[in-house]
Amino acid sequence: MVKELVNGFKKFRESYFEKKSQVLQQLAEKGQSPKTMVICCSDSRVEPSILFGTGPGDLFVVRNVANLVPSFTSRNNLSIGSALEYAVRILRVKDIIVIGHAHCGGVAALCESINNNKEGETTDNQTDFIESWVDIARPALSKIDYYQNDANIEVNSERAVVLYSYNNLLTYPWISDAVSNNSLEIHAWWLDFKSLMLWEKAQGSDSFIPMEF
Ligand SMILES: [Zn+2]
Repeated sequence: MVKELVNGFKKFRESYFEKKSQVLQQLAEKGQSPKTMVICCSDSRVEPSILFGTGPGDLFVVRNVANLVPSFTSRNNLSIGSALEYAVRILRVKDIIVIGHAHCGGVAALCESINNNKEGETTDNQTDFIESWVDIARPALSKIDYYQNDANIEVNSERAVVLYSYNNLLTYPWISDAVSNNSLEIHAWWLDFKSLMLWEKAQGSDSFIPMEF
């Protein structure tokens, strides 16, 4: 696979560099000035540059398990907090988009942990980091009834986690200020890569609506 990546880079060099060498030169000389920050899952099926047709210099991206944004006061926010700070205070991006997705293993791990706790099973972490990390979003799922045999539980959980991250963005004072003075917009999206549908949080509501194309 590593060899394929190297070959892929060789092809990228040939095709992209030929067409857009000026863009790369400018990025090297003047630095980056992306207008959009994307926060999405580390999942290999969620590939923002491919999904949105963007290239080098277009997106400032943070990826982590389950697309989580801890609150401003959380102890777990050093990594994403520094990325948010850089994007908002230095790069002054115009939009931040949190993107969740279907069949998210990170959200599934959190759901499983919640279920195990309810059923009185051991609460000792089975993993070194994963359970502790996804546990950040536990409050997001407090209203979901896992005893109900609801086919939408997985989707509802994934969307609740996206909303949780979205709402946590507003706990960062410089994000809240920038949103208040209309220099920044924040968005919550959920991707279904099987049907290739993109859903967005409706304005003034926590429900998600499919984007029309
Ligand atoms: Zn995921």
